[in-house]
Amino acid sequence: MDKIVRVNMTDKKVTVEPVPDKYKGKGGRWLTSLMVSDEVPAGAHPLGPNNKLFFAPGMVTGTHAPNSGRISVGGKSPLTGGIKEANAGSPFPQKLARMGYAALVLEGLVEDDKRWLLKLGLDGGELLPADDLKDKGTYECAKMLWDKYGEKTAFCVNGPAGEAKMAMAGIAFNDPEGRPARYAGRGGLGAVMGSKGLKAIVLEDENAPAVKPKDPEMFKAGQKKLADAILSHDVTKKGGALNSYGTAVLINILNEAGGLPTNNFRTGVFDGAQKISGEALAEAAKTRGGAGMMGHSCHPGCIIHCSNVYAKEDGSEHVSCVEYESSWSLGANCGIDNLDQVAELIRMCNDYGVDTIEAGVTVGVAMEAGLAKFGDGKGAIELFSEIGKRSPLGHILGQGAQFTGEAYGVTRIPTVKRQGMPAYEPRAVKGIGVTYITTPMGADHTAGYTIAPEILSVGGKAEPLSAKDKIGLSKAFQQTTAFIDSCGYCLFIAFPILDIPSGFDGVVETVNGMLGTKYTGDDVTRIGDEILRIEKDFNVRAGVGGKDADRPPEFMRYEKLPPHNHVWDIPDEELDTFWDK
Ligand code: SF4
Repeated sequence: MDKIVRVNMTDKKVTVEPVPDKYKGKGGRWLTSLMVSDEVPAGAHPLGPNNKLFFAPGMVTGTHAPNSGRISVGGKSPLTGGIKEANAGSPFPQKLARMGYAALVLEGLVEDDKRWLLKLGLDGGELLPADDLKDKGTYECAKMLWDKYGEKTAFCVNGPAGEAKMAMAGIAFNDPEGRPARYAGRGGLGAVMGSKGLKAIVLEDENAPAVKPKDPEMFKAGQKKLADAILSHDVTKKGGALNSYGTAVLINILNEAGGLPTNNFRTGVFDGAQKISGEALAEAAKTRGGAGMMGHSCHPGCIIHCSNVYAKEDGSEHVSCVEYESSWSLGANCGIDNLDQVAELIRMCNDYGVDTIEAGVTVGVAMEAGLAKFGDGKGAIELFSEIGKRSPLGHILGQGAQFTGEAYGVTRIPTVKRQGMPAYEPRAVKGIGVTYITTPMGADHTAGYTIAPEILSVGGKAEPLSAKDKIGLSKAFQQTTAFIDSCGYCLFIAFPILDIPSGFDGVVETVNGMLGTKYTGDDVTRIGDEILRIEKDFNVRAGVGGKDADRPPEFMRYEKLPPHNHVWDIPDEELDTFWDK
């Protein structure tokens, strides 16, 4: 990966340049966050001419390292106003890496209401008029793209919500079967793509060479260690939790722990949990047959296969994929226990091109405001369809949970830095609350997944309800995660590498084998910390968060959460020590 392609939407020029020394050997989140920090003025309007959108495959993406097909997308977030990195697994980054691109940079703005498609080849690309895709849902666009460019191509596409510059819009990447279902979802980066008039990117990678590690022996040894660890850990092995039940295996687990946010974070238990669980998904795949399946993967080379395809009663495909986060946000958080209705809401999210977490948190807040009733799946579908209609109400909802809550005078808005909280109640699982509050990304569980030791007893054991020692725990997870995101590895490799030291060694060795570096385990933390501080520095310059400003929603300080009846009780002064060296 020795080149960067820049796409200027103002003058429609596509240029290819060599990777500058400063960015050599960096990938994924490391590269996008560094480039955002270097190239985007902190005061830029997220939808204005000075924001840019960066796409970067990870440092080992494009190789045969297991579960390494992830892409980071970075920019200034229209949702949080701060720096954002959202990542997705797809064949797209694997092809981009093999084509030799370390990064794709989208800059400038279109000056009319036209849509464009970037066709990118090995030696550069061209912008083609794409008004035929304008305002079309992602499913229709995906079919048109594969019909026109062939099923060997990879693509990403922006949905109508992104075109309408809604702050909950994500960017959809294709899965191996061409579904526009793998999302760089969080933070509204689809709206940035929409502001630039780019509807889709298509990769033509014919004759792309294989990615060659600098030290093939070291790389191969690391690859084997990591694969062995993944295939022997209970969470990630074949027939293990993720492979059998998908990420939604967590629904029953979090419900048991009293940490499944329900009815807009009013309680940590949901009576209907079983009906929207991973076990229910697996049962549906078995009894309904047809297109339904568990053990699907988002890109070639995944050896965990946590994804799924959910079928309708007649066996025809309804949606892929029903993740834990989506089943929770559009299920338990809205009091909906009907899996078919949840699947329909997920399908609508995918088609409009929005983040399912922000969507479900927004619907929960809208229910709190009385726009629909908790538990009313049909009402939720009707309400959510306003986004597709682009009605005034749809535009309010499309701006996310914080904006919707403010528009309707709601005091219970579960957000940090204006981004909706994911599927773990911070009052019941305190370490993840620290992650939500301190990460530069806005409330985001993937930034530092302390659920591993707090709930799953992976990587040690931490008491979820205890406020003690959670700053250090979250910090260690955030540092390691920033490194994993930069490698291009799926975050679920964290389970085996936390428990199996040789798996962790394997990650470092694949990176060293690939780049010819001599990183040690300590460098993982050091580099992760460096990335976090680049991100935090951008946010401080942008006036988002920072010391004395990263705080939980106020209602969590005084409202006791059943069934444990805990409030948020980590003192602010302790939160402020997060950034101490
Ligand atoms: S484990 Fe799941 S998210 Fe990770 S690479 Fe495989 S299918 Fe994708």
